[in-house]
Amino acid sequence: MTLTHAEYSQIGAKISPNGQAFIDGAFCDAADGTTFETTNPATGDVLARVAHCKAADVDRAVKAARRVFNDGTWSRAEPEHRKEVLLKVAALVREHAHELAVLESLDTGKTINDCMDEIGGDVPNFFQWYGELADKTFGKIAPTGPGALALITKEPAGIAGAVLPWNFPLVMAAWKIAPSLAVGCSAIIKPAEQTPLSVIRLAELMQEAGVPDGVINILPGYGETAGQAIGLHNDIDTVSFTGSTEVGRMFMRYSGDSNLKGVGLEMGGKSPFIVLDDAVLDDDLIEHAAMSAFWNGGQNCSANMRQLVAAPLVEEFTGRIIERVKAFKLGDPLDPATDIGSMITKDHKSMVMEYIQSGVDEGAKMVTGGGSDLPGYFIEPTVFQNVTPSMKIAREEIFGPVLGIMPFETAEQALAVASDTEYGLHASVFTQDIDKAIHMARALPCGTVSVNGFSEGDIKTPFGGYKQSGSLARDNGTEALEQYLQTKTIWIQTKPG
Ligand code: NDP
Repeated sequence: MTLTHAEYSQIGAKISPNGQAFIDGAFCDAADGTTFETTNPATGDVLARVAHCKAADVDRAVKAARRVFNDGTWSRAEPEHRKEVLLKVAALVREHAHELAVLESLDTGKTINDCMDEIGGDVPNFFQWYGELADKTFGKIAPTGPGALALITKEPAGIAGAVLPWNFPLVMAAWKIAPSLAVGCSAIIKPAEQTPLSVIRLAELMQEAGVPDGVINILPGYGETAGQAIGLHNDIDTVSFTGSTEVGRMFMRYSGDSNLKGVGLEMGGKSPFIVLDDAVLDDDLIEHAAMSAFWNGGQNCSANMRQLVAAPLVEEFTGRIIERVKAFKLGDPLDPATDIGSMITKDHKSMVMEYIQSGVDEGAKMVTGGGSDLPGYFIEPTVFQNVTPSMKIAREEIFGPVLGIMPFETAEQALAVASDTEYGLHASVFTQDIDKAIHMARALPCGTVSVNGFSEGDIKTPFGGYKQSGSLARDNGTEALEQYLQTKTIWIQTKPG
């Protein structure tokens, strides 16, 4: 249920966030007692001091996670029991959705509407869906002659690490925690330093739901401290990471330098939104174009920043996009009337502003947006036309509210420009011709292609990237379970009866 601005503000005023780590079923400080601040990016106010976990804390959490994994309380529990507990987590998140959504909005600067969609919907749905899978995930029996029975069984990988980004804190936590716990792993979670609060609160709800001590551990800290310690730990069996390609590479190295743990990576993107010449420029298409670039203030790995539009349509498309974008309202993220909240930090705002300046310097034409006078780290949704494929804003991930329009002559030219990137996460294609749609969808080198609508898919469909957007691992769908499972063959020699 949507509340009013005043009601969300009242909830916010009452929240007193906990910044402690959660290790072995108890809240605690970092072993060395150090803390860091987390702030509200829309106001600059300090929200809480947060435990700064380091290698010693990670090690303590891993020992607890290993103890409980080995004693089987969770890893060998009846699958129906794990299901029941994860369904309870889902129910508790729904029950506390308003409080969690306000906490998320305060810590991230995301709009309350987005936070409610995520925490009232996506997050509990993940716990429910993977909870339901706990007693429906089977191995296989391979065909053999009469002298053997060959069982291909699935076992939990062991201890799963997860290092999370700041753009969807609780959604990303659910993406990693729900499938790993459903199959019986214990989890070590590091939220991003900018956005630890909702994930810490989730731990409390998970304990209330009946997740045993040691199965879920939350270690706030910096990448260079807690993140690196997770990557290098010799007793973590698999790690799932979402964030920048640069740090994703480090997790590959950490694995090579330690115990060769499994590494699942979901990283950046530079996704195209392609409007072929037969597409109908109706309100629906324009809404998808605008949301694909500006949802979450463009702080989204699948943001369709590069908008490739067939030359005959480009003038009308540009006019209608400008009109739509000017209607977006920037402002207090807790106001349900706000469409775009704050950038995550001052530094991030500066980086996005540098990209905007580079677009101007390289000759693209800025037709709307370009900054903001609001206090906090706001940037107006910004649209460039006459963007060319070699420009910095067309090649590098901006992670902010910037949309670039690039005209093209033929579908094959659009395909070539769309594919000419080191990334391969997502693409959207608009056309009335099913054959063209299928051709483009098959040819685009990326993990998700969305036709006649911008979508990342849903809980049932795998999400991840080709090229430098990801490793072979996928989040979501039944595919996500593979990140947290081992496959064992049991070959039983039999005697003819
Ligand atoms: P990072 O990749 O730096 O951060 C993601 C996570 O990795 C955070 O938890 C971070 O910790 C951790 N981390 C950082 N450095 C290390 C390290 N040396 N070893 C282990 N873990 C580490 O992303 P940023 O937050 O710096 O954002 C930079 C850019 O990355 C963005 O502008 C965007 O382009 C991209 N990005 C992509 C995301 C996606 O969804 N694919 C999400 C976020 C960012 P901490 O933050 O606590 O220091």
